[in-house]
Amino acid sequence: MSSSIRVTVWNEFQHEKVHQAVIDVYPNGIHTVIADGLKKHGFENVRTATLDEPEHGLTEEVLAQTDVLTWWGHMAHGKVDDKIVERVHARVLEGMGLIVLHSGHHSKIFKKLMGTSCSLRWREAGENERIWVIEPSHPIADNLGPYIDIPEVEMYGEHFDIPAPDTLVFISWFKGGEVFRSGCCYNRGRGKVFYFRPGHETHPIYYQAEVQQVIANAARWAAPSKGFAFAYGGGKAINAKVPLEKLD
Ligand code: ZN
Repeated sequence: MSSSIRVTVWNEFQHEKVHQAVIDVYPNGIHTVIADGLKKHGFENVRTATLDEPEHGLTEEVLAQTDVLTWWGHMAHGKVDDKIVERVHARVLEGMGLIVLHSGHHSKIFKKLMGTSCSLRWREAGENERIWVIEPSHPIADNLGPYIDIPEVEMYGEHFDIPAPDTLVFISWFKGGEVFRSGCCYNRGRGKVFYFRPGHETHPIYYQAEVQQVIANAARWAAPSKGFAFAYGGGKAINAKVPLEKLD
């Protein structure tokens, strides 16, 4: 089933060109490690796209052939062209899945989809994180244990300024005392959106097996569903002007 899902892994790919500490961890870019993790889980149609490519690699054609888009950004959110954000937004409403990772919480596309600031509290102290599965029946929790331990992370703490998730799959605890909503599911239009917290650029988090498992699970969950595609409005296309039952 995974093999038929077409995934585009988007990464701004900026830190990995200029910061040695990041190059040491992700010499070929965060996107290549995320893409490799998906391939390990049976995804055969995985492509990558980055900020510096024409149209950020997200042309109409690429998006039309994308079932699920993953998004990693941090230092260059402001450089993402509003036209491309509009294009991605429209595709989500049409049914494309979107997985927003870590510092992608402040991306234009996530803020637009959420309608809030998506701000949070953070600390870089290399502390450990325990991510608890709180919705074990959810497909994004498939093949996980009761929790995921990540040895060294950047802390993200509540309050996280997001709308209440439709389903909350994970809650994180940090050694410093904070908690955080780490796995948040939303429906937007026909599209499914998942926010997943782990993944700071100086920690090798996207190599971790459980993290790769979650991203693969999320890509399967977020793939477009086959429900009826309603046409909106009152025109002939949906016959809303013709009631199904006789009205007196
Ligand atoms: Zn970070």
